Amino acid sequence: MADVRDIAIVGGGPVGLALAGQLLRTTDWRITLIDAATPARAARDPRAIALSHGSRQLLEQIGAWPVAGSAIEHIHVSQRGHFGHVKLHHDDYGVPALGYVVRYGELCETLERALARAAHDMGESRLERVFETRIDDLEQDTPASGEDDPAGTVRLRGVGHDNLPATFAAHIAVQAEGGLFHQQAAHGGRGAQRRDYEQTAIIGHVTCTRPQLGWAWERFTEEGPLALLPYEEHGTPGYALVWCCSPDQATRRLALPEAEFATELADMFGGRLGRFALAGKRHAFPLGLNAAPVTVKGRIAAVGNAAQTLHPVAGQGLNLGLRDAFALADSLRAGCTPRALQAFAERHRVDRAITIGVTDLLPRIFGVSYPLAGHARGASLAALACLAPLKHALARHMMYGMRR
Ligand SMILES: Cc1cc2nc3c(=O)[nH]c(=O)nc-3n(C[C@H](O)[C@H](O)[C@H](O)COP(=O)(O)OP(=O)(O)OC[C@H]3O[C@@H](n4cnc5c(N)ncnc54)[C@H](O)[C@@H]3O)c2cc1C
Repeated sequence: MADVRDIAIVGGGPVGLALAGQLLRTTDWRITLIDAATPARAARDPRAIALSHGSRQLLEQIGAWPVAGSAIEHIHVSQRGHFGHVKLHHDDYGVPALGYVVRYGELCETLERALARAAHDMGESRLERVFETRIDDLEQDTPASGEDDPAGTVRLRGVGHDNLPATFAAHIAVQAEGGLFHQQAAHGGRGAQRRDYEQTAIIGHVTCTRPQLGWAWERFTEEGPLALLPYEEHGTPGYALVWCCSPDQATRRLALPEAEFATELADMFGGRLGRFALAGKRHAFPLGLNAAPVTVKGRIAAVGNAAQTLHPVAGQGLNLGLRDAFALADSLRAGCTPRALQAFAERHRVDRAITIGVTDLLPRIFGVSYPLAGHARGASLAALACLAPLKHALARHMMYGMRR
């Protein structure tokens, strides 16, 4: 039988790395962090991620800030072809920026460095790193929830880089193996939420002739939300594009010559930023919601995309995943027991439910195409712009979740 560690984390993406970092700093537990790949995987990931100011505060706690990227100082939300818009300004919330746009790979690299420093400071033996090992089976010997036997164990089995079986044991296992909607099996069980939005996100980097520094744009179109997030590359202002559209349109647009793609983007977005030019490859991500009904079963907890995979509208997936990680680390200070995991699930339930609810509702409301729907949505946006308390409450949730 393998050495029994306190906590085994399956998945060293941004959420698993942040969880390991915070556990090293705030507990004495001995941790094993297992990943199917090597850190080089993250560097190849093309996603640009909008991190909220609240996520910045969490990353600062574990020494994983700054991350190279660009600040979002203002956000403009509108609907194509209809009146009504909402603007958010960092000054209104007393923060230097509402959020930051970073590359997935840069974020993981910064988290890796912070984790290595934490292991150095807190004792190298407390962190075991395992790469190129895919875990595919978790089995716990004290399944009854509520039992608090400190010796209870979860066995983790998988395949190592040499194709040989790999086994691990820990008192608590955390599933942080993430993934993308189209590659994931349903996060099963009664009450699981799974919805294919029948939208694909085209992502890429674009420049334009009239950039507006610090502004992020979220424009709802008949096909899905289109986001332009400020991202300066090699000193040139530009935007990370997340263009959600039907899978057929995505296939067609991905095959368009660059100049035609840029023209179609300008038609869809409008003329505010001038002419667009593509600066790099386009990539496609099919979109869906996949949320487990419960995030804790006995000695096993799920966090990040392993617990819920969301539509990228409003950029909430990783922000919620980081809050998962920090809430879990905080609860585990009480012990590596099912009770501590239950406390995490209970404490985090409302934040998770609201974030899943909002990101599920938005693409569906804006996807309704009957004739008066556009006017009704325009009226709602205009009303939201005038109703400062409601607007601020929503913005604060997107920034901090239930932390404040
Ligand atoms: C187009 C797009 C845009 C997005 N934009 C935003 C945004 O602006 N803001 C935001 O907050 N979120 C955004 N997201 C969501 C965000 O990317 C995810 O929420 C985030 O990457 C989840 O992190 P994670 O660590 O849970 O999982 P992942 O990033 O998927 O990492 C999982 C890790 O687990 C490893 N692994 C997988 N399976 C196994 C296994 N069986 N055994 C061991 N290891 C395993 C993998 O190698 C990987 O390292 C976006 C998503 C998409 C698709």
